[in-house]
Amino acid sequence: MDKHAAAHLLDTIATYLELKGENPFKVRAFGNAARAIGTFSGDVDEALASGALAEVDGIGKATLEVLRDFARTGRSTLLEELRREVPPGLVEMRRISGLGAAKIKVLHEQLRISTVAELELAARNGRLAATPGFGGKTAEKILRGIEFLNRTGGFRLAHHAARAAEQLRLAVAAVGGVERVEPAGSVRRRSEVVRDVDLAVGATITVAELGARLRGAVPRLEVGEQAGGLLVRLEDGTGADVYCAAPGQFGHTLAWATGNKTHLEQLTVHGAARGVTLGPDGLRSGGALLPCPDETAFYAALGLPWIPPELREGGDEVARAAAGTLPRLVERGDLQGLLHCHSVYSDGTNTVAELADAVRAAGYRYLGLTDHSVAAAYAGGLKPDAIRRQHEEIDALNRACDGFRILKGIEADILADGALDYTSDILDSFEFVIGSVHSRMEQDEAAMTRRVLRAMDDPHLTILGHPTGRLLLGREPYALDVAAVLARAAERGVAIEINGDPQRLDLDWRRCREARDAGVTISIGSDAHSLAGLGNVDFGVAVARKGWLEATDVLNTRDAEGMLAYARQRKTS
Ligand SMILES: [Zn+2]
Ligand SMILES: [Zn+2]
Repeated sequence: MDKHAAAHLLDTIATYLELKGENPFKVRAFGNAARAIGTFSGDVDEALASGALAEVDGIGKATLEVLRDFARTGRSTLLEELRREVPPGLVEMRRISGLGAAKIKVLHEQLRISTVAELELAARNGRLAATPGFGGKTAEKILRGIEFLNRTGGFRLAHHAARAAEQLRLAVAAVGGVERVEPAGSVRRRSEVVRDVDLAVGATITVAELGARLRGAVPRLEVGEQAGGLLVRLEDGTGADVYCAAPGQFGHTLAWATGNKTHLEQLTVHGAARGVTLGPDGLRSGGALLPCPDETAFYAALGLPWIPPELREGGDEVARAAAGTLPRLVERGDLQGLLHCHSVYSDGTNTVAELADAVRAAGYRYLGLTDHSVAAAYAGGLKPDAIRRQHEEIDALNRACDGFRILKGIEADILADGALDYTSDILDSFEFVIGSVHSRMEQDEAAMTRRVLRAMDDPHLTILGHPTGRLLLGREPYALDVAAVLARAAERGVAIEINGDPQRLDLDWRRCREARDAGVTISIGSDAHSLAGLGNVDFGVAVARKGWLEATDVLNTRDAEGMLAYARQRKTS
C-alpha cells in the first residue's frame, strides 16, 4: 500500500464526513490519521500486518479498518458509501478557499446548491448576497475562490505528479520489449505544478503491442492509442501521454516529449538554419532520418550541447547553448548544509538527534535547526526556557560528534509591524535567523512591503523565509513588491530562501535569475517537519536549477564556517 495514497484516502474520507455533518471528533480522527500515515517512516504494510500500526499515535480503530480494507482491495467501502450519500460537487466546493463545511451544508440545504457552477451563479445573481450568514462580501470572496479553482484545477503538485509518473514508469518498464523508459514533460522539467504526466519509451514492439501488453499487465489503467504513443489514465485520474519510438530514436522521443513547446520551436528554427528538420518522428537531414539513441546525440545533431531539462522553458537557453555559455547548474551534491528544519521542540515530529543523524547520513556537514518562534503559538513556538534547553542539547550533541555540526537557528515570525519575534538579546543567542511571515497575510501591498523591508533592516535576520507566502494550488502569494524586497536583500546582505516544501517552492523559479543578477544570495531550505521532509531539499534544488542558479549563488553550498560568517557579517555591518 502506497502511504501517500492511503493518506489521501483518509483525508478524502474526512472531507466527506465533514460535509455529511458527522461528529467533529470522528472527522478530526480521519484527518489526524492521514497526517500520521503521511509522516510514518516505516513500511506501512509490514506495520499493518504486525499490528505496529495500531500503536501509532493518531491511528484509531475506525481508520485502521479503512486501511485494512484499502490494503486488501485497493479500494475503500466506506468512501464508496459516502460517495453515494454526499454529492461530489460539495466536495469540490470544499476546495474553494474560505468556504468551510458548515457553510456548504447551508448552501446545499437552504439554497439547493450542489455544484460549483450553481454556486457561481448564485454568487453572481445576488441570491447568495441575500442569504443570511453570507452577504455581498462573502459572495465576492467566493467568486474569487472559484476563479482561482478554475485556474488551478486539474493541476497536481510536483511531488504527487512525480509519484504518479514513477508508478507508470515501473509498469511500462516491466513490459517485454521495452528497453528504455523515462519520465518526460513538465515532471522532467521540474515544473512546480503538473497537469498531465508524460513518459518517453524506447521499445522494439509497436505502439499497439505496447498498449495491449500494458492493459494485460495492469488492468486498473485505462489505455488508449493515439498518434505516436498511448494515452493512459491512472487510477487517481491523472492523464498520461506515453511517447513511443524504436530504441535508435529514443533520444529524439525523450526530447520531444520533454518540450516545452517554445523550446522545441526554438530548436526547430535553430536546426532549420543548419539544414536539419525537427518533426514528431525525428530529426532529418536531406530527407534521411538521423540516428538519435540518446539526447546528447539529439542535441549534437542540431549543433548544440545537451541542455538540462529544467532550462527547457523557451527562454534564452537555446541561444546560450549555441554560444557555449550555459551555466553549470547547482546540484544537490553541492550543498554542504541542510537548512530550515523543525524538531519536536516546535511542530516537527522528530528529535534534534534524529534529524541530525539523518542529515549527517545523507552526506551533509551541518544541520541548520530552525524551530518556530514564540509568536507562532499554534506551531508550538519556543519560549525562552525551551530555547535554553534546546541550545544545551545542541551543545551536547555537537561535543559528541566531530565533522558534523548543528547550527542554532530559529524561524522567527515577522510580526505585523515588521519587527522580528523575540527581543534583541534572545535573537543574539542564535547563530542565524530565518524570518518568515506567518500571520496577517491580508495586508495590502504597501503595508506588507514595508513590513518585510523593515524586517530585513534588522541585523539579526540572515534569511527571508518563503518570501511570498504562496501555497501552490491553495493560496495566492500575499501582496508584496518582490522587486523592492530583492533590491533591499542585496543591499543588506540578507539571503532569500527557496523553500523546498512542494506546496511552497517559494521564491518562484521565474524570479531567481533576477534575484541573482541583483546580487542576492539564495538559501535552499527544506522546511522539514519530519525525516521524510528532509527530502524537500531536492525540490528546492530543482527550483534553483530552473532559475539558472549555480553553486556559488547558493548560501548553503558554503561550509558551516562560511555560512556563519555570512550571518555574522549581517550583524556587524
Ligand atoms: Zn514558515
Ligand atoms: Zn518552517
